[in-house]
Amino acid sequence: MKERLSDRVNSIQPSPTIAITTKANQMKADGLNVIGFGAGEPDFDTPDHIKYAAIAGLVKGNTKYTPADGMVALKDAIIHKFKRDNGLTFARNQITVNVGAKHTLFNIYMALLNPGDEVIIPAPYWVSYPDMALMCDAVPVFVDTREEDNFSMTPDMLEKAITPKTKFVVLNNPSNPTGAGYSKEALEALAAVIVKHDLICISDEIYEKLTYGDFKFVSIASLGEEIRKRTIIVNGLSKEWAMTGWRIGYAAGDPAIISAIGKIQSQSTTNPTSFAQDGAIAALLGPQEKIQEFVKAFDERRTYIVERFNTIPGLSCIYPNGAFYVFPNIAKIFGKKTAEGKVIKDSSDFADYLLAEALVAIVPGIAFGAEGFMRLSYAMSMKAIIEGMDRIEAAVRKLS
Ligand code: PMP
Ligand code: GLU
Repeated sequence: MKERLSDRVNSIQPSPTIAITTKANQMKADGLNVIGFGAGEPDFDTPDHIKYAAIAGLVKGNTKYTPADGMVALKDAIIHKFKRDNGLTFARNQITVNVGAKHTLFNIYMALLNPGDEVIIPAPYWVSYPDMALMCDAVPVFVDTREEDNFSMTPDMLEKAITPKTKFVVLNNPSNPTGAGYSKEALEALAAVIVKHDLICISDEIYEKLTYGDFKFVSIASLGEEIRKRTIIVNGLSKEWAMTGWRIGYAAGDPAIISAIGKIQSQSTTNPTSFAQDGAIAALLGPQEKIQEFVKAFDERRTYIVERFNTIPGLSCIYPNGAFYVFPNIAKIFGKKTAEGKVIKDSSDFADYLLAEALVAIVPGIAFGAEGFMRLSYAMSMKAIIEGMDRIEAAVRKLS
């Protein structure tokens, strides 16, 4: 039956981040002591008040279909969140709720892209941005950023990538996989280009709350009326509230695009799970302090892991501004040999070597369109991070 599969499905890869996490989990289930830096998923549990809100929803009988694009009470909670956190005012017809932010993005791509349209994606990029474009017969156009620029796309780089076929630009601030964040000034400069060319900006702000040090998150949509009109903000509960399994994401922006997303959803999932929406309301309207506890723990891990990388010969790592990933530079390892005589040629070889030699799972930079790097998620216990870093260091020191 393989030959009967669609060109569409043959044009994409399985999500590498999910694939590596699944492989590491399988090895663990087989009794191997694998340390998984692969999954971009908080190790914390969802806070109790959110779980109880979902249970209360179930008990009350919120067990039926909801409106396709989300319950009115959840839309109002999202409107409240945007006002409180971003100073942005939205009406209900500008909000849609979906089955995780990944699904929000998928719906947006489906709603906006015609075959041949181009999507500008700064690299390193999160793995799903290009493949979603391919699924819509659209063309991902990559803009390579540089480590020395904190992996940021400059207005010049953006301008050069624009063609008459450009439909939208995807910005992920702070970024998965690099953790890099854009300053207000950098966003203003990008916004000017987006407005000048009358493009749409898809601003994926799912790591908005997970920021460190002096970095201050600003939503590009809050930088003026012209850019606000052209921006669709994507956000979700998975990361900041440790709710990955709940599958609630949302978007805010132009009513026509938001309504198109609702139409697509009404013909696909019908609606996001009813009682998960009750939990989401509690997360958005309830006490917000817990997030600061998560951030503090992530920050300690971030500092530790960056410092460790910078003491391992051949590796170096810049401090991420946000999210829970580090993206160390591993290019100096290339050309070295393992004890068995195998040459490490690229990030995939290095990932294979770490898994076989050290039982450590990481994601090779090439999965994010950036050879010469690797991604580690530090959303795991400090104990596991220390053990994992010891193993990585020992494995690197064995190379000659
Ligand atoms: N955007 C980015 C940048 C992400 O890292 C993720 C994590 N998977 C998502 C969107 C989607 O998150 P979710 O579907 O769990 O809401
Ligand atoms: N966003 C997370 C990651 O990049 C979860 C996996 C996925 O959705 O790709 O690891």
